[in-house]
Amino acid sequence: MALDSFTEGAVHEGAEWSGELYRIASTQFAGTADVLDLDAEARTRLLEPRRALTVNFPIRMDDGSVREFTGYRVQHTLTMGPTKGGFRYAPGVSLGECAALAMWMTWKCALLGLPFGGAKGGVRCDPTQLSAGELERITRRYTAELIPVIGPDRDIPAPDMGTGEREMAWLYDTYSQAMGYSVPAVVTGKPVVLGGVEARQPATGLGCVYVIEALLERLGWPIREQRFVVQGFGNVGRVAARELFAIGAPVVGLSDVTGGIVDPAGLDVDDVAAWVDAEGSLEGYPRAQAVGRSEILETECDILVPAALERQLTSENADRIRCRLVVEAANGPTTPEAESVLADRGIRVVPDVLANAGGVTVSYFEWVQDHQRFTWDGIELQDRLRRMMRAAAIKVWEGSEEHDVDLRTAALTVAVRRVADAGARRGIYP
Ligand code: NAD
Repeated sequence: MALDSFTEGAVHEGAEWSGELYRIASTQFAGTADVLDLDAEARTRLLEPRRALTVNFPIRMDDGSVREFTGYRVQHTLTMGPTKGGFRYAPGVSLGECAALAMWMTWKCALLGLPFGGAKGGVRCDPTQLSAGELERITRRYTAELIPVIGPDRDIPAPDMGTGEREMAWLYDTYSQAMGYSVPAVVTGKPVVLGGVEARQPATGLGCVYVIEALLERLGWPIREQRFVVQGFGNVGRVAARELFAIGAPVVGLSDVTGGIVDPAGLDVDDVAAWVDAEGSLEGYPRAQAVGRSEILETECDILVPAALERQLTSENADRIRCRLVVEAANGPTTPEAESVLADRGIRVVPDVLANAGGVTVSYFEWVQDHQRFTWDGIELQDRLRRMMRAAAIKVWEGSEEHDVDLRTAALTVAVRRVADAGARRGIYP
C-alpha cells in the first residue's frame, strides 16, 4: 500500500524545489530559454540546481533546552568556477527558496562577468527571537555541517537577510578551526579587520544607484527630477535612499517592517536615518505623514525601489502601482503576473539580477584580495564597482533596445547565454 501510493504520487520534475519563489525563477528562466531557443538538454542543465544539502541539527538554547533547526545550501551551477551566494536567517527559508535564489545568483554573476556559479543557503529561524549566543551556536554548527561542500575554491558564502559581518566572522573562524589554519577566502562580507572590505556593506545599495544613474541617462530622465519611493530601510534600502538623497533626488516615501512615511516635497533621508538609529525603526517619525506598509508601494512617484523582500508586487496590487519605473533592489519582488500587468501599463522593471548585483561584485573583490593577500583602497573598489555596474546596465539597456525585449529578458539573455555556452564547451562528464 505504502509503495503503491509512493509510485502513484511520483515526484514530478522539479518538485523537490517547489515553492512560489522557485516558480517565479523558473518561469523567468523558461521565458529566456524560449528567446534563446535553448534545447531541452541545456534547459534541464540550467534549470535544476546541481547540488543541494539539507541539514537538521540540534542547538542548546540559553534556557538549557535543545531545539532542532533545519538549514540548506544549494549550488545552482558548477560550470563557471566556485559557487557564491549568501545565507539567510528567516522563518520562511526553504529548499525551494534557496534554489530560486541560487539560480538568480548564477545569472547575476554571469551578467557581471564574475567567475562564479550561484549558490544560496540559510537556516529556518527567526533571528529576532534568538540571543547572540544562540545565533553563534547556530552559525557555527551550520558551518560545520556545510564543511564538505564549502571552501575558498568550492563555494563561498556571504551575508543575506538576517545575517551580517558578525555571522561571517563566526563562519570564517569555524571553518578555519576545522582546517587548522586561517582561510579568509572561504567567506565574504567579513569584518574589515578579518580581511573584509569597507565597500561591501554599502555595495548593493550603491550598485543599485549606479544602475539607476546609467539607465536614467539613457532614458533622458534627469535623476534630480525623479521622485523616488524606497521600500525597506535595511542594508540595501537605507544605503540606496541615502545615496539618492545625497545626489539631490527627492525621496518622497520610505518604509520598513513597521510601516511607511511619505512627504511629497521630499524626505530628509539623513534625518530619517538618525531617527532609526535612535529609535530602532521608522515608527513614530514625526516629520512626515505615516502610511501603511502596503500603501507605500502605491504612493505616486516616478521610480519605485522595492528593497525589502520578495513578492511585493503581485497580481493583487500591480494595477495600483503609480510609478514609471520599478527598480528591483530586493530579490524577486515582482511576480511574473504583476510584471505583465505593469508592462501593459507601460511601467518598466529593472530586474534584480542587475539592480542588486553590486553586493556580489564587491564580494568578488574581497575574495580576490583574500586570495592574493593584497588590498585595494576603498576608493579604488568603489570606482571599480561603479564601472562594472554601469557597463552591465548599458549592456542590458542596449540588448533590450536591439531585440525589443524587456529589461529582464535582456539581462537574463546575456547571463543564460554565457552559462549555456560555457556548459557546452566543457561538455558532459564522463
Ligand atoms: P535587511 O534585513 O537589512 O533589511 C530589510 C528591510 O526590509 C528592513 O528595513 C525591514 O524592516 C524591511 N521589511 C521587512 N519586511 C517588510 C515589509 N513587509 N514591508 C516593508 N519593509 C519590510 O535586508 P537587506 O540585506 O537590505 O536585503 C533586502 C533585499 O535585498 C532582500 O531581498 C535581499 O535578498 C536583497 N539583497 C541583499 C543584498 C545585500 O548585500 N544585503 C544583496 C543582494 C540582494
